[in-house]
Amino acid sequence: MTTDWPPEKKLPPGFPLAAVDESGRPIVVGAKVRIESVASCAHGLPPEDQARLRCYEGKVFPVLEIDRYGMIWFRSDGGSSNFSLKPREVSVVAGASGTKSRIASFHQDEEGHWVAHLECGHNQHTRHQPPFVNRPWVTTPEGRQGAIGTLLECKKCGEGAPPDAAPPPD
Ligand SMILES: [Zn+2]
Repeated sequence: MTTDWPPEKKLPPGFPLAAVDESGRPIVVGAKVRIESVASCAHGLPPEDQARLRCYEGKVFPVLEIDRYGMIWFRSDGGSSNFSLKPREVSVVAGASGTKSRIASFHQDEEGHWVAHLECGHNQHTRHQPPFVNRPWVTTPEGRQGAIGTLLECKKCGEGAPPDAAPPPD
């Protein structure tokens, strides 16, 4: 992908922009971010293009690319043209999908299902429900002990969810 802004070959002072949002959260390709402002992109455009861009404010877009200037690129709704914003004009709502976290401990919920407490602070059910979910190891203390440290994909991290309640002490 090529960009014609800024036109200089050499990076202007202040570039590349740090890939962090206003709150200091890292912005990565594939992350979901909410667009807070389109001011830098809309500046100098014809009114109809500015209006089109303003419609994106408050909406959530996946990050398509981060160019060498540190500009964050997005695919527009129709997919006809892409647009870019400064990192400070977006806020991260969720990291890239596929976020994994290690199992820190296990506890049981009210119904007796085993729940893994992950190092990220989220809980995740690790049910043994054959034939749908086959995790015989979760039914024995040895099996659970052996699973400590296993990487699980954490959907809650991907959604930017707040941490779950810590497991009750043994
Ligand atoms: Zn998590």
